[in-house]
Amino acid sequence: MKKYFIYAYLLIVAGCFTSCGNDEEVNVNDSIFATGTTEKETAFDQWLLENYIYPYNVRVKYRMDDTETDVKYDLVPAEYNRSIALMKIVKHVWMEAYDEVWGIEQTQTYVPKLIQLIGNVAYTESGMILGQAEGGLKVTLFRVNEIDVDNIDPITLNEFYFKTMHHEFTHILNQKKAYDPAFDRISESEYVGSSWYQIDDEEALQKGCISPYAMDRATEDFAEMVSIYVTNTAEDWEYWMRTAGNTGRPILERKFEIVYNYMKDSWGIDLNQLREIVQRRQNEISLLDLSTL
Ligand SMILES: [Zn+2]
Repeated sequence: MKKYFIYAYLLIVAGCFTSCGNDEEVNVNDSIFATGTTEKETAFDQWLLENYIYPYNVRVKYRMDDTETDVKYDLVPAEYNRSIALMKIVKHVWMEAYDEVWGIEQTQTYVPKLIQLIGNVAYTESGMILGQAEGGLKVTLFRVNEIDVDNIDPITLNEFYFKTMHHEFTHILNQKKAYDPAFDRISESEYVGSSWYQIDDEEALQKGCISPYAMDRATEDFAEMVSIYVTNTAEDWEYWMRTAGNTGRPILERKFEIVYNYMKDSWGIDLNQLREIVQRRQNEISLLDLSTL
């Protein structure tokens, strides 16, 4: 049972489960303000206009909106102050990391157009927790109310939120420019679809997949490689390579070579440079003012 919940938790980290690859339409032209309500514009709304809408054309919805989330889940709204803190951090560690590596115009063109914030986690009738990311246009970040604004843990944040965003962003890039199909064939016989959550980290690594979720299918494998690479240190990566051992390591290295070359040749992104930038910015979170708008 414990194992079940650990992997249920990982679904959030993976950022997508049943919803990943679902091409649900998102109307990117909607106002950032909840429509049909009497909600007043807040100082945060104004900040979002200046920091997300104008520079990136990204809408951030921190209010609950039943049209954006499935009402059968028992969801609570993201708290105002925690939403402010999270969006300040996302801007510094995620958006501006890409700005630094390839310029703000590129970030603006490809970034998911809608970020929905939810206070808690989502459960289905079976108790499963869901993370959501739909069609590359919308990312839902759950568990916002767990952020301790006065005691930020950058590594946990990276795992909770930024890995999800890098993962989804990789799907978007893959949709724009295809990667070398040789990647799909390397672990073709190892992919297990939705049974991935029954696999533990070590087993996945030894089979040549960087995470259990990478064993779902090739496109998830690719997105996991990018997102795990850039949100962890070189030492972490090397530890996983050692864990993968004589069988898994060569497979992971072959796949990573394709991933690295794709990002470099198709997008001009050096994953080593992006990782350095992400790590540096993560360490700068403690210097940010997370409350003043
Ligand atoms: Zn995915």
